[in-house]
Amino acid sequence: MKLALLSDIHSNLEALVAVLDALPEVDRIIVLGDIVGYGPDPNGVITRLRSARARAVMGNHDAAMLAPSLLDWFNPHAAAAARWTRTVLTPESRSYLASLPKFGRLGPHRYVHGSPRKPYLWEYILDDLQALEILVRLGPRLCFFGHTHLPRIFTAEGEDIPKPGEWITLPAAALINPGSVGQPRDGNPEAAFATVDLSRPAVCFGRVPYDIVTTQAKILAAGLPEVEAARLALGR
Ligand code: ZN
Repeated sequence: MKLALLSDIHSNLEALVAVLDALPEVDRIIVLGDIVGYGPDPNGVITRLRSARARAVMGNHDAAMLAPSLLDWFNPHAAAAARWTRTVLTPESRSYLASLPKFGRLGPHRYVHGSPRKPYLWEYILDDLQALEILVRLGPRLCFFGHTHLPRIFTAEGEDIPKPGEWITLPAAALINPGSVGQPRDGNPEAAFATVDLSRPAVCFGRVPYDIVTTQAKILAAGLPEVEAARLALGR
């Protein structure tokens, strides 16, 4: 089975469309949460994901649409964008987000927004010792995650910052983050994603340019924080 991994789309429709157009043929699109927040097109992004029959889990920004008290955890810009998103979300979009599970399974494999240990939405997997603790508890399976907006592979051997465009063979246990579609933070502004071949298993990371200027103009026209427009050009 071949999968596409998309994470942290953050209401960026231009980036999502560029990634969907760039994807090779896959059996299933998996979305690792944070579908909304920061960006200007929450309803457009949700509509595209539904028509692509993507399977998604909830991210912390998605959860904040349903439980306003979660905004206490957000920085002021993220909270302002979340409040704006709540005002424009259609009832259909809202019930879509409410329907998302916090944790997904693909046979023995798992997918989550933040981390496979509770609370699933909030832990940032950032270093190899932390990842090793998680891998030991997880056993021989793959787990796909997002939340940090950084493309990474963690295995018992340590951390790997993958280069786009090459297939990397995976051991039986690995944590894989495809990076962010709609708000990359690794210094590369191109939209990030990954494809996985579960039969090998192996992963290939991808990057694709998109129309950042249009997204920035929509962010400013919506009255969203200017920093959320500026950072897209920097990939930070
Ligand atoms: Zn995010």
